[in-house]
Amino acid sequence: MLSIMHKAIFPTLLSLISGLAYAHGAHEHGTAKIDIALQDTDGSIFIKVPSESIYGFEHEAKSEAEKKKVSEANNILKKNILEIVRFDPSLGCTATEDKITPFIADTEDDDDNEHESTSEKKHGEHGEKHGEHRDFQAEFKIKCKQTAVGSRIQFAFTTYFPKVQKIIVQLNSDKLQTSVTVSKNKGFIQL
Ligand SMILES: [Zn+2]
Repeated sequence: MLSIMHKAIFPTLLSLISGLAYAHGAHEHGTAKIDIALQDTDGSIFIKVPSESIYGFEHEAKSEAEKKKVSEANNILKKNILEIVRFDPSLGCTATEDKITPFIADTEDDDDNEHESTSEKKHGEHGEKHGEHRDFQAEFKIKCKQTAVGSRIQFAFTTYFPKVQKIIVQLNSDKLQTSVTVSKNKGFIQL
């Protein structure tokens, strides 16, 4: 499994990770993308998901009710990040919030057919105009007392954010590079 290439690219992995996997990710309501980078006991989690799937809307929060919704959802994520991305509790991991950005304009190519059909359909349902897509992004730093090698990472995104039905997880560690799709919390990564 462990190739020379993985070893060679690792030093720059943590800095590259955000840019790599998300450069070409489509905006699909209900689907989150999570990048996890791990090196021994340290790591990072990067989450990108349509804002609609987190807050129920995807324009900048204007009303008090919307602002409240944003801060509540952000708090749920911060408080439960280690349940949403669940490392084995015996590793003694802690998470620190790096950055949460509620609404980032979706700059994906609008000529993308898959994106187009998904967005038209979803937005038709709740009456938002096409072209107002925003993405939610969050980054966390992870520190564990023990190496995660040999353990499992499980996921519970749907428990805390029911609109998120599917997550696509990309994991990069010094030992492993893999991707899994988790539907309604079912699935894990074996490290
Ligand atoms: Zn959207």
